[in-house]
Amino acid sequence: MSLNRRQTLAGAGSAALAACAPKPAIKSYDGDAEVLILGAGLAGLRAAQILSNAGKDVRILEANDRVGGRVYTLRHKDGFTEAGGARIQTTDKRIQALASSLGLLLEPEAAPPAEISVWSQGKSLRLAPDQIRPFLDKRTGAFESGGTNLRIGGGAQRLPEAMANSLLNWPVLKTYVQSISVTDTRVTARDHTGRVWRAEHMICTLPYAALRHLQIDASLPGAQKISIARLPYVQNLQIHFRAKTKFWEKDGLPPDMFMQESLGQIIANRDTSGQVTGLFHCTFFYDQLSWVYRDGLDRLHQRFRAELARLRPSTYANIEIIDVVDWTKDNRAAGGSYITSPSAGTSEGVVPIGDPVGGLHFAGSHLAREFIGMEGALESAENVAAVILA
Ligand SMILES: Cc1cc2nc3c(=O)[nH]c(=O)nc-3n(C[C@H](O)[C@H](O)[C@H](O)COP(=O)(O)OP(=O)(O)OC[C@H]3O[C@@H](n4cnc5c(N)ncnc54)[C@H](O)[C@@H]3O)c2cc1C
Repeated sequence: MSLNRRQTLAGAGSAALAACAPKPAIKSYDGDAEVLILGAGLAGLRAAQILSNAGKDVRILEANDRVGGRVYTLRHKDGFTEAGGARIQTTDKRIQALASSLGLLLEPEAAPPAEISVWSQGKSLRLAPDQIRPFLDKRTGAFESGGTNLRIGGGAQRLPEAMANSLLNWPVLKTYVQSISVTDTRVTARDHTGRVWRAEHMICTLPYAALRHLQIDASLPGAQKISIARLPYVQNLQIHFRAKTKFWEKDGLPPDMFMQESLGQIIANRDTSGQVTGLFHCTFFYDQLSWVYRDGLDRLHQRFRAELARLRPSTYANIEIIDVVDWTKDNRAAGGSYITSPSAGTSEGVVPIGDPVGGLHFAGSHLAREFIGMEGALESAENVAAVILA
């Protein structure tokens, strides 16, 4: 077994330091870590912070080439757009405290636009945001609350990045776990290269839609198997684009759009002063995805530009697509956020269940008891860390 950084530091410490330092809380264990965490989203990173601070030797395995999971800021040459969790509610006290402790700036979210350009049943109208709410799919509106929300200055992904930087062991990236196995004495994970990782405890923070792709060799209760197989996640895909010129000044219509029959909601990015930055994103949900996948993703750029120009001619030859984020087809997320409040279960009647089985523990926003979204991810991490430290 190779020495990790904590053990190397402990071995190399001077006599003087050793005399005054508290005894290192390193237990003997036979594996790659005392605690192995699957997933470097907010839940995995927060659990790692708490457990590392308590003296545990922790490793995080992350399939992606970045940390953050469903917190994902797309950085462009002229600004950024958010593809994942970003809105912080006033009641999200954990996120606010954590961001402040890491030196991140919390700023008020830009006020919603006063009017939106709406295309519906062959007509074009100008409506206030409240007036289109009845037309939106209720399953997608979990984070709509308006008014007093906050966001992280410079992009939400600064939070997971700062959390990862605060750890002794930076997460092991590009490591896709394919199977998990639990025995009486240890928990193991096998990654896509065939490497086997062993630990006393494992915390699996994968959203259940992603966990469905793994082989799990553990005696999970039947109710949890159902929960893993059926817990619903928001199906969505986003197209992020840039306006080459201010097309909304050309046609005099509000920049934000709602195109009920085809493209759905198109949101204009705003800075904190409320100025439109020129970056936009369009999100397709559920049934609208059939329009997206109809001719394959290769032709999507062209079809999107053509449909947008058909409804709003001032965008013709005036937009540039900069990113497509398909949460639904990504095996690491397999959807957006979990739908309703954890304690209430889902409208489909599935209850999220994640009790520990041997050394295998579960966390992630879907397993929080009180909160949803990013705050829920942190709450679940605190809960699971408390169980391991008990
Ligand atoms: C489009 C969108 C908008 C959202 N908006 C908001 C919002 O405004 N406010 C809010 O509070 N919340 C929002 N959310 C929800 C919020 O982002 C999530 O609930 C939260 O970030 C989940 O954190 P997590 O750590 O539980 O899971 P994740 O962030 O999903 O972390 C799980 C990690 O596991 C990794 N992983 C998956 N499979 C494997 C594997 N096989 N091996 C290794 N690693 C693996 C993933 O890559 C990921 O990094 C939004 C989500 C989406 C998608």
